[in-house]
Amino acid sequence: MIPRAFEYFDPATLEEAVGLLEQHGEDAKLMAGGQSLLPMMKLRMVSPAVVVDLWRLPELDYIRRDDGVVRVGAMATHYALHSSPLIRTTLPALADAARVVGDPLVRNLGTIGGSAAHAAYNADYPAVLVALNAELLAVGPDGKRSIPAVDFFTDTFTTCLEPTEIVTDILIPVPGSGARSAYLKLSRRGTDFAIVGVAAALTEGEGGHCADARVVLTGVGDVPVRVTEAEEILQAGPLDAERMAEAGEAAKRNLDPPSDVQADAQYRVDVSGVYVRRAVAAAWQRS
Ligand SMILES: Cc1cc2nc3c(=O)[nH]c(=O)nc-3n(C[C@H](O)[C@H](O)[C@H](O)COP(=O)(O)OP(=O)(O)OC[C@H]3O[C@@H](n4cnc5c(N)ncnc54)[C@H](O)[C@@H]3O)c2cc1C
Repeated sequence: MIPRAFEYFDPATLEEAVGLLEQHGEDAKLMAGGQSLLPMMKLRMVSPAVVVDLWRLPELDYIRRDDGVVRVGAMATHYALHSSPLIRTTLPALADAARVVGDPLVRNLGTIGGSAAHAAYNADYPAVLVALNAELLAVGPDGKRSIPAVDFFTDTFTTCLEPTEIVTDILIPVPGSGARSAYLKLSRRGTDFAIVGVAAALTEGEGGHCADARVVLTGVGDVPVRVTEAEEILQAGPLDAERMAEAGEAAKRNLDPPSDVQADAQYRVDVSGVYVRRAVAAAWQRS
């Protein structure tokens, strides 16, 4: 289908972009890669009167390391993330997620900021951002603010952003020594959203123990779901295959996933256990 008519702006500065959002309020929509917005406009699920395209803001398109933090611009594409040596070596779970988003066209155009702001319950990045303890920076008429990823996602397709705010950067602490991470996703076809996705961020301690574990699921709730009981099991003794399986079983408890065209709720619960075990094993095997 063809979208309803809209006015198009491509501001050259962030200030201009914020000004346009202020001026047009709820009638305006930001556009990053357009990989979620344009299909929704074509289906007339959303029909903004004004589209504010961020493509002319190169300051939002970068990946770099500053002291103890990896900084990623909101306009960094999925392709840029999964092909970045810095991301692959420092934050492998983020590279894993970027590699399995959609197809090559989506990965070349879609951005991490757009994906986070879109906040689909079955998107790949949200679980990874929570597992890696990321913060999102947003700018609006009142200036900049920093939002922990765990507070950013408030419901499916909903974030704590005001309509006049723009995500500019994503900050992720550089993991310490002994840290390793992985993201694993189950989907029906390569290009599909996750039935279940699991981000595991682990830190090796003394004697084969896992000193710290953050395990976060996508696809099983309105927002990323952290499975703290499984995390406690992973940290309770030497991390072997038996403990990983026990953590997988624990992760299934208290999940209340949705049913959709991809899978029903019970299937999601069942595969969550398997994918938690596999994601933990994949992370632990990384050195
Ligand atoms: C065929 C197909 C397959 C896909 N498969 C997957 C998949 O497997 N996994 C997955 O996670 N995703 C998948 N996606 C979605 C894809 O990841 C999108 O790229 C992403 O959701 C949106 O990023 P974008 O840059 O294209 O944002 P856009 O579509 O441009 O914007 C999305 C929303 O975010 C808002 N927005 C954009 N940028 C900002 C910003 N900087 N600050 C505030 N708000 C902003 C927009 O106003 C809009 O509401 C798929 C998409 C398609 C078309």
